[in-house]
Amino acid sequence: MPIKSLIRTIPHYPKQGIQFRDITTLLKDPIGFRMVVDALAHHYAHQKIDKIAGIEARGFIIGAALAYKLGVGFVPIRKSGKLPAETVGHDYALEYGADRVEIHTDAIAHGEQVLLVDDLIATGGTAEAAAALIQKLGGVVMGCTFVIDLPDLGGSKRLVENGLKPFSLCEFE
Ligand code: 5GP
Repeated sequence: MPIKSLIRTIPHYPKQGIQFRDITTLLKDPIGFRMVVDALAHHYAHQKIDKIAGIEARGFIIGAALAYKLGVGFVPIRKSGKLPAETVGHDYALEYGADRVEIHTDAIAHGEQVLLVDDLIATGGTAEAAAALIQKLGGVVMGCTFVIDLPDLGGSKRLVENGLKPFSLCEFE
């Protein structure tokens, strides 16, 4: 069963005109979930990774499982005000308004090779902000990985242009 066929599409969520790609149907399938983690682990098997950074919230699910499989540590990147210890933050623009992501200042050591993980890339704004945080701490973003790419929204192209090496398991128009 291909991964893509286990992803559900919810029309008009969270607002009119948006086709939301819902990975909960993939995650609840034991074979599907395992296929995702195994495919990503296989892709990165021979690359040097010190840490995985998962983006709140669905990036935690995939990122933590992948960190376990690869035998590396996991660090969370969260929305503003959620992390308990000292943080650094990065503000970024949304289509309407702005948002902020944060990471603990001691999450990543200088020079560590970090793989960024989220469930989906659309415009790339979230991944770019998360990458900026890792770089602020002196980490090296060795790649950014997603289950789903929405190439029409240009995010993966934007990451390529910025040297952030995106890799996704499937695409939706
Ligand atoms: P971007 O910053 O690339 O425009 O948006 C990506 C972020 O929004 C990711 O953190 C992702 O979880 C969330 N996101 C946006 N659209 C969707 C969607 O259709 N499905 C899911 N699962 N997440 C989405």
